[in-house]
Amino acid sequence: MNFDLNNLVRDNVKSLLPYSSARDEYKTDGEAMIFLDANENPFENGLNRYPDPRQMLLKSKISEIKQVPEKQILLGNGSDEVLDLIFRAFCEPGKDNIISLPPTYGMYKVLSGINNIENREVLLTSEFEPDVDAILEAVDANTKLLFLCSPNNPSGNSFDAETIKKLLRSFKGLVVIDEAYIDFSNVAGWSQSLDKYPNLIITQTFSKAFGMAGIRLGMLFASAEIIKILNRIKPPYNVNELTQQRAIKGLQDYSGIKQQVIDIKNERHALSKQLLQLKYVAKIFPSDANFLLIKVDDADHRYMELIGKGIVVRNRSKQPLCENCLRITVGTALENQNLLKAFKELES
Ligand SMILES: *Cc1c(COP(=O)(O)O)cnc(C)c1O
Repeated sequence: MNFDLNNLVRDNVKSLLPYSSARDEYKTDGEAMIFLDANENPFENGLNRYPDPRQMLLKSKISEIKQVPEKQILLGNGSDEVLDLIFRAFCEPGKDNIISLPPTYGMYKVLSGINNIENREVLLTSEFEPDVDAILEAVDANTKLLFLCSPNNPSGNSFDAETIKKLLRSFKGLVVIDEAYIDFSNVAGWSQSLDKYPNLIITQTFSKAFGMAGIRLGMLFASAEIIKILNRIKPPYNVNELTQQRAIKGLQDYSGIKQQVIDIKNERHALSKQLLQLKYVAKIFPSDANFLLIKVDDADHRYMELIGKGIVVRNRSKQPLCENCLRITVGTALENQNLLKAFKELES
């Protein structure tokens, strides 16, 4: 495979001299030093110091859990930030383009708009799988990124592994697999295949299975070379101290997180079976995520009826291939019971 990472990097990023922070220039090795280098307030309150710009302790915990070497991890202020960094490192505004596959996560389109990058949309097939031929047809010399969201939001399915392999092998740009929902999936993710595919970038998040959407922490896994490039352009203190501390604390109970994921998957199964018995539910799409996409008789109407009963779901009926579809997050057992009760009370 003739993949040349250097050809994909924007010229200004190649020649950029990154900001060197105080904590970059002198790295503490735990020894008690007097720090008079960063103009911080010296009175200790637990947060008066700048955070570690490389998040080394947090990365070592993530590395253990995800089995990805630390030098292949980049962290950011949510997936939103790490996705934006990919655009800013590789896509030349007004010139380059990316490919995304609707119906999918809205941020790829928003970020391409913000960065003035053309977003070439290639619809998923009716089975919600990537259309390899149509994708390769849409590629030109300026196509830098291909976004694969797997498991996909809002459809919930994981893409076929052979299809992803084909795209990884034949697309000469970077393939970004957004694995925000991978912990809920019954198939393995791609984080153990990084060595095989130099053009692979994986993003994951603390916002879903890890139960920490509020701290804003996104993860990116890629080759050490790609991480090095992204590190050149990331804001030095992009992951704040409170977030780093809370994430480390949260990961101490990783078995608790895994148990919650099992509970949510069991609830997903039970909810799916019961929703299917409702007469105005036409279809429930198979889900590898913590939500269900369901097709109803009239999505706008059912959406408003549920609001009237105090339950908010996501109306996805305006998305392509999602006519009359609602996206429902799997809640607690009690919340799901309330949802089913409300659904049963709706007019038929
Ligand atoms: C929820 C979600 C994310 C998470 O974004 P954060 O900024 O990390 O909260 C990323 N990708 C997809 C597809 C999502 O649905």
